[in-house]
Amino acid sequence: MPLTASQTTPQTSWQQELAKACRQLPELLNYLELDLKQISVNPQVTTKFPLHVTYAYLSRIEKGNPNDPLLRQILPIDDELVFHPGYTTNPVGDLEAGQTPGLLHKYHGRLLLITTGGCSINCRYCFRREYPYNGNQTSKSVEQAAINYIKQRPEISEVILSGGDPLILSDARLSSMVAKLEEIPHLKRLRIHTRLPVTLPSRVDSPLLKWLSRTRLTTSIVLHVNHPNELDGAVSEALLLLRQTGVILLNQSVLLKGINDSELTLCELSESLFQNGVLPYYLHLLDKVSGSQHFDLPEADARLLYHKIRSKLPGYLVPTLVRERSGFPYKSPVL
Ligand SMILES: *Cc1c(COP(=O)(O)O)cnc(C)c1O
Ligand code: SF4
Repeated sequence: MPLTASQTTPQTSWQQELAKACRQLPELLNYLELDLKQISVNPQVTTKFPLHVTYAYLSRIEKGNPNDPLLRQILPIDDELVFHPGYTTNPVGDLEAGQTPGLLHKYHGRLLLITTGGCSINCRYCFRREYPYNGNQTSKSVEQAAINYIKQRPEISEVILSGGDPLILSDARLSSMVAKLEEIPHLKRLRIHTRLPVTLPSRVDSPLLKWLSRTRLTTSIVLHVNHPNELDGAVSEALLLLRQTGVILLNQSVLLKGINDSELTLCELSESLFQNGVLPYYLHLLDKVSGSQHFDLPEADARLLYHKIRSKLPGYLVPTLVRERSGFPYKSPVL
């Protein structure tokens, strides 16, 4: 969802860059030298889930190519309006897992905070595209309820900041949240699920690096890169700065038809990530959210592809292929 810029605090440069993100189809087509006739898009597609993409990301898309793998991740198309049975607005049981607003506790020892509904980019296959963010974000008032929930459960050793994208929040807001988490003695680890170091590398600035290097919590950042073209020089620099703070960098991808469903692309992705100090973590089968069926790959094809990448890469460069199943105690490996 687009960010509403705060009027009261001065904006840092990444916030200004984010405010200038592309939200209009004609602007996108013009920048990418594409013709409306080359794509099939109905304005209705963007009313529920708008077009939203940063220029840092757009700059990596090949001009004039309607099938560019990065473009396809963000371009609203008519296929999203087609109804398919089995694709729902709540594909992974998130609505049932909410204990206090904005807090999802599905798995042992770790829980996830929906810190914001805001993102730097709207990914068309996003499984939370229909998530009712209103009333389910950790605003200041509900943050305390989440902190109390964690305090009462000594078995929780890790907190995951998710969203939306947590790095859309200001460093003042994030560092105060993390300071409260640090006060809970049984918490050991902090994890941040974010796409911003890739979609907006300027987000990795000194205020962010400062609180990341200072936290007592062992911190990992799980990026979300689906295609090797998403990694350019600016991203490499941002990732290097993050690594220098001592955080561990991991990546999760979604297997997407027409975007990264090839042996070559997935092998290249793992290798490029590792060149940047990032280890592949999960390769998710698509969560069956309404409007995303055209990205889905049959499970048998996914298995075959996975076998091929395992035959090419060292084990540590092979992400675990998983499918999220409602009610399961972990993300289920697909073997
Ligand atoms: C995916 C997810 C996690 C993280 O699972 P890991 O296997 O630890 O990466 C935690 N909580 C929720 C609600 C999740 O959806
Ligand atoms: S996949 Fe992540 S970055 Fe993309 S829209 Fe969904 S929450 Fe935002």
